[in-house]
Amino acid sequence: MSVLVIATRNPHKLAEIRALFPFPGLTLRSALDYPDIPEVVEDGATLEANAIKKAVTLAQGTGSPALADDTGLEVEALNGAPGVYSARYAGEHADYMANNHKLLKALEGQPNRQARFRCVIALAQPSGQAEYVEGICTGTIALAPRGNNGFGYDPLFVPESETRTFAELSSNEKHACSHRGRALRAAAERWGGLWAGNT
Ligand code: IMP
Repeated sequence: MSVLVIATRNPHKLAEIRALFPFPGLTLRSALDYPDIPEVVEDGATLEANAIKKAVTLAQGTGSPALADDTGLEVEALNGAPGVYSARYAGEHADYMANNHKLLKALEGQPNRQARFRCVIALAQPSGQAEYVEGICTGTIALAPRGNNGFGYDPLFVPESETRTFAELSSNEKHACSHRGRALRAAAERWGGLWAGNT
């Protein structure tokens, strides 16, 4: 029996991962099972650095392999901003509405609305060794927010070959094409062999 620790305190993210990692010999735990390990400060310059930092901290603290993700919205006309700063684009304790408002202001009068979500997932071993995969979802930034589902920049992001925003899609529809869905499927494909044989 092997254990994989997921660096999240979000039960929704854990459920998503559980569905894509159906390996019989693998027990999934989350950061909630290890309350003594402090939350990592996400101060890396890149999504990769943050995902690896979170995964390595948890793997070394628990003695089991650990998986961590970090996501950013990269807007072409803003040279990739807000990127690694997506959660705090409008300030350290900014809420989703403030971030969306700042993004719309920054793109006012801008004809190039191209953007992409990028999700990096890192797997770390207790030795500190780590590797990562990524999932990308390209699309455009709408002129005004639409829809009530999801979170973050969902009301502004229209994925390629859709007219609806992420916030107008059901969670299954979003998961089928989203950056996190793609990154999780890449992770299961890349590392599934490590767990498939465990009983
Ligand atoms: P995290 O790395 O998953 O915590 O994401 C960082 C920030 O990116 C979040 O605070 C959101 O603002 C944004 N974000 C991440 N994933 C999504 C998504 O699926 N939809 C909309 N915004 C997202």
